[in-house]
Amino acid sequence: MKSLLIKNGTIVGPQKNYQADIYIQDGKIHQIGTQLDTDFSTQKIDASNLYVLPGSIDVHTHMDMPVMDVTSCDSFETGSLAAIQAGVTTIIDFANQTKGHSLKEAIKDWQQKAFGKSFCDYGFHVSVNDVNQSVINELDDCIENEGVTSFKTFLAYDSMKLDDQQLTTLAEEVGVRAGLIAAHAEDGDEINKLIDTQLRLFNTHPRFYPSTRPTNTEANAVSKLIDISRNCNVPIYFVHISSKEALAEIISAKAQGVKIFAETCPQYLMLNDSSYDQDEFGESAKYVMAPPLRDSASIDALWEGLASGAVDVVATDHCPFLLAQKTGDQVDFTKIPGGVAGIENRFELLFSEGVKKDKITLNKLVEVTATNPAKIFGLYPQKGTIEVGSDADIMLFNPTYEHVISASTQITKCDYSIYEGMNVTGRCVMTILRGKIAMHRGKVSIQKGFGQFVKRGRPTC
Ligand SMILES: [Zn+2]
Repeated sequence: MKSLLIKNGTIVGPQKNYQADIYIQDGKIHQIGTQLDTDFSTQKIDASNLYVLPGSIDVHTHMDMPVMDVTSCDSFETGSLAAIQAGVTTIIDFANQTKGHSLKEAIKDWQQKAFGKSFCDYGFHVSVNDVNQSVINELDDCIENEGVTSFKTFLAYDSMKLDDQQLTTLAEEVGVRAGLIAAHAEDGDEINKLIDTQLRLFNTHPRFYPSTRPTNTEANAVSKLIDISRNCNVPIYFVHISSKEALAEIISAKAQGVKIFAETCPQYLMLNDSSYDQDEFGESAKYVMAPPLRDSASIDALWEGLASGAVDVVATDHCPFLLAQKTGDQVDFTKIPGGVAGIENRFELLFSEGVKKDKITLNKLVEVTATNPAKIFGLYPQKGTIEVGSDADIMLFNPTYEHVISASTQITKCDYSIYEGMNVTGRCVMTILRGKIAMHRGKVSIQKGFGQFVKRGRPTC
């Protein structure tokens, strides 16, 4: 593999920015220094006026994911191609255990979905939908041999949620092994009651969807899981925190020293619940995701939480469906598969709306999209940082490039964008994955299958 020398760029880390050159050899960052020079066989990349950032890590994706009777419309191939365009060099997808089957089977299924197809590196969490002794017996193997160290639990969705006993057992057993619980925090029982009420009133339009998942159903589930984290001595990572109320629970528990982490997603920072208020069933259905979009008070709280460190990670929950899949037969909002696309817009949206508008610093953006994800999910310092010895996963970002987000130009297979028409400033212009130029100005120069499975360690923070 050709060695690379990135010259004249501004390297951005979670703490500081500095001018330096980066010499890359054999897929690793070999040297960082000023005025580095090398022989003719090294390819030189001029990064003048560009930011040189650690490759982004998206720890929450659902490629090729069955939901109800449909499947998310991005495969590992198309979803990872969208990732590479946006400087995302690693994703962590959720391998989904089905009831009556083992965790290892879930991981094997997802390996088959991804192997030979992914453009970017990838790892897996496993979603645990069934807890029994044989599942517990698999945990050591998952953590020590499979490189799967995080176990997702649901408090909502009848087909996936664990009862209290199962939840506690899993939390204790993962805690003993120093693994991580990831949690979808919504109170499914309460949500089911609210759904029944709306459907009894024939309120089937998706504009009624958010009213069935109010913020207290999220905050109550967060509170319950905080108790479990405390009692079972296990760190919990909250996926897709959307509301001010849930975040308040997290802030208070963190202040008491409970080991928890919070993730939010671009959609909860950019869009509010007025998006559902559209007469067309299909237009409103585009925004169906769980939890739903919230009001502006929650949006403000999430931005503040990012700036203060209360929110540790921004991931995307990339789980796109075609408009026809979202709209279906327009029976009622419970038949709409939940999820939206986001993998190729996360960094530029947060740069444009967050950094440019002084809500967060560029260093914070790097921290929540690369360094923290790597630390929490056991990839650090191999990934998530620009340091000698780390994988040469690097994004070159042009902070002045203006463009408009549109479904007509996006790479994801999704045929609409929830950010349609939004003007953004800043764009990834080059992605380097393990020392190889993977994308330059939109042109992809690696083949599918270049992305490798990464075995993860335990959390290091
Ligand atoms: Zn998800």
